[in-house]
Amino acid sequence: MSDDRMVAPGPFEEDRQFDLSLRPQSLTDFIGQTKLKEILSIAIEAATQRGEALDHVLLYGPPGLGKTTLAAIIAQELGAAIDYTSGPVLQKKLDLTGALTAMRDRQVFFIDEIHRLLPDVEEMLYSALEDFRVDVLIGSGPGARTHSIPLPGFTAIGATTRAGLISAPLRGRFGLTLRLNPYEIADLQRIVFRSAGLLEVEIDDAGSAEIARRSRGTPRIANRLLRRVRDYSQVRGDGRIDIAVARTALDLLEVDPHGLDEVDRKLMSTILGKYGGGPVGLNTIAASVGEDATTIEEVYEPYLMQLGFLDRTPRGRVGTMLAFEHFKIRPPRGGGQFDLNY
Ligand code: ADP
Repeated sequence: MSDDRMVAPGPFEEDRQFDLSLRPQSLTDFIGQTKLKEILSIAIEAATQRGEALDHVLLYGPPGLGKTTLAAIIAQELGAAIDYTSGPVLQKKLDLTGALTAMRDRQVFFIDEIHRLLPDVEEMLYSALEDFRVDVLIGSGPGARTHSIPLPGFTAIGATTRAGLISAPLRGRFGLTLRLNPYEIADLQRIVFRSAGLLEVEIDDAGSAEIARRSRGTPRIANRLLRRVRDYSQVRGDGRIDIAVARTALDLLEVDPHGLDEVDRKLMSTILGKYGGGPVGLNTIAASVGEDATTIEEVYEPYLMQLGFLDRTPRGRVGTMLAFEHFKIRPPRGGGQFDLNY
């Protein structure tokens, strides 16, 4: 399997089932993202004490970091029901009216890919989020009139990988906006351990660390790699996972030692090779890599920055010394813009 399939936002059906079976059920089981969990647990407890619906929550961050999982956990912690929908599914105003009028008091309404709502549907959502009502037009022509349907207090949880594409009016209607960052290796290692436990696979410290390192900061990828390594170990080994098994299996699958994929590599070679380490503007990088600028900014760069390969400066993106070393590219000598930064 190629690396870009590993980071594809939409997991395949088999992977989806697997994701579901490993999904943590409570905030305590949700590993990492400490600050975000603290903010959420305070908000949940406060809303519960007051007997009110929790404020609307906007979750954003690269795919596979746990947005859907968190939404389910929030509902669980609130003791509330949850309905799932997504931006592309809500094609017409009527779809949204249907979903909203079926809502029960204090329930959670999860909207995945909220940046993909069509403008008129999005506009209808404004009054639902702010005033808990939905306006429907009854009849047509001169006799048509607007009827306002009151809604129960509910909590909308919007999820997006592309916060930059959310309009200001929509963003402003979420009381809590929380960002998920790529996970540290130690947290990913705990996730691999936890999943291995659930799958009843024996794994040691070094084996789980190897899988964690190659997971691109992403729990979904960590779980997927664990499953591949488990297969390998079952067929070629004795079912246990240690560092040798993990390495051989992941090398066989051509998973990069840092979990980097094709786009990551193209991006870094543009900055380091073509532009001598930068600074180079985001749009220039986007044109050169063939991805759009917001995807680069919101999906790819966070992990590269976490690895210490990339810095954002007011003058553009800059590749670090560490990146030159990792990609075995010689930094430009004498007076290049790169030298001004180091
Ligand atoms: P997103 O909605 O952000 O794309 P998901 O919530 O679908 O991501 O998460 C993908 C999978 O990764 C989940 O099914 C779950 O098994 C795992 N996962 C995500 N975050 C965590 C976490 N913090 N701790 C443990 N497992 C996690």
